[in-house]
Amino acid sequence: MTPMTFMGHPRGLATLFFTEMWERLSYYGMRGLLILFLVDTLRGGYGLDDKTAAAIYGLYTASVYLLAVPGGWLADRILGQRTAVFWGGVLIACGHFSMAVGPVALFYLGLTLIALGTGLLKPNVSAMVGDLYPEGGARRDAGFSVFYMGINLGATIGPLLCSYFGEKINWHLGFAVAGVGMVFGLIQYRLGARHLGTAGELRGVTPAQRSAAISTAGKFGLFVLALGGVVAALHLMGIYLVNPQGIASVMSVSIPFFLLAYFAYQFLFGGFDAAEKKRLAVVLILCAASAVFWGGYEQAGSSLNLFAMRATDLFIFGYEIPAGWIQSLPAVFVILLAPVFGWLWIKLEKHEPSVPAKFAYGLAQLALSFFVMAWAGTFVTQAFKVSIMWLVVTNFLATTGELCLSPVGLSGMTKLAPRKIVGQMMGMWFLATSLGNLLAGMAAGYTEALGYVQLFSLVGAVVMGAAVLLGITAPPIRKLMGGVE
Ligand code: GLN
Repeated sequence: MTPMTFMGHPRGLATLFFTEMWERLSYYGMRGLLILFLVDTLRGGYGLDDKTAAAIYGLYTASVYLLAVPGGWLADRILGQRTAVFWGGVLIACGHFSMAVGPVALFYLGLTLIALGTGLLKPNVSAMVGDLYPEGGARRDAGFSVFYMGINLGATIGPLLCSYFGEKINWHLGFAVAGVGMVFGLIQYRLGARHLGTAGELRGVTPAQRSAAISTAGKFGLFVLALGGVVAALHLMGIYLVNPQGIASVMSVSIPFFLLAYFAYQFLFGGFDAAEKKRLAVVLILCAASAVFWGGYEQAGSSLNLFAMRATDLFIFGYEIPAGWIQSLPAVFVILLAPVFGWLWIKLEKHEPSVPAKFAYGLAQLALSFFVMAWAGTFVTQAFKVSIMWLVVTNFLATTGELCLSPVGLSGMTKLAPRKIVGQMMGMWFLATSLGNLLAGMAAGYTEALGYVQLFSLVGAVVMGAAVLLGITAPPIRKLMGGVE
């Protein structure tokens, strides 16, 4: 009997494809509503000021990626990826339903549950895709390309559904739809589990190692609880009032500090030879560039979402589309353009740009997308909203940038990192993404104070600065890579 296949791939890929599709549907669906709901004063939103709303958006999206670090660790040492993905999905669904219910406390509990659940699900479902191809190589790469389509299919449909229900009918209904999506994902994951073979099972961990890991996790959990307790006590005593902006500022300093300290430690005490140290330096540069990139790109859900709602004429053939529908555009463009870029790199053959050069191109295109938005901003007045085409062009440029940078980023980590710390390097990449998301939130807090033109030109200038710096230094950075392409 021939084994069942999915587009020429192991049938298990279909299971993981649809699990991730539903998860991303719920993630991007809810994210499209989040900041709009937080600032809304007319339809039962929380009516927060831009700065607070943006800080909450940034903290939430940053936490999602930050928690992927412990999520990957828990799966590798204690749970196994397969179990981690399931319980991650359960937490996510509970989170969305908690937000759907209404009261403020349940809303924030919901955000926390989704961040915890995504931390468990997202890194591990990707690791399981890799597990389906023990032989690695080109077939695994092709498997990841198919999987990437699943991500973006979910990211296309999510905002279409949730923003319709959330913006047109009721915010909380939108959150509930995201939860229903995740439930479909869970049912599908359970039913399709039989196709996964041994992928994602806990392997290579002895019972003694597992118990040691459980005890470490327990201690870490207690430490986090104690820290939370101290902060809560300081808040109650009025010594430090907990507020989203304050926490976001603390995180925006502590994440880069931690990243730098980690690299410095590996550099000095990791016991690596000169060639490995050079590649380690490249990894650090790429992580920094990635944080800048996502800091701009992820404003799709924050400042650009506010721009769509407040300053864009959303009527198409007489129907006013929900602002969140614009959120689907990057995902649509990824689906349409990913094959084109794949083809382009092959076509360019030996002229294919180096990894740092691709990063520089990616950043430059993102910078252009912000200059386009700054230009659009010059036309906005109290009485005039601009055409939706501005956001279409902006999203197009941001996506072409993403396709230069994001696919090579993760694979670059695996190739450049010294073998014994590959897992930790993935963690650092997630940490850089987390920082980017945080900055993307915090930047949106300045929409009111700076105005669109100033904010978007400032972001564009910073990103362009990074692009130019990386572009100029790409040849020496390539040398540091020592033959890794
Ligand atoms: N859009 C991709 C996803 O959701 C990548 C996002 C990111 O790394 N910031 O998986």
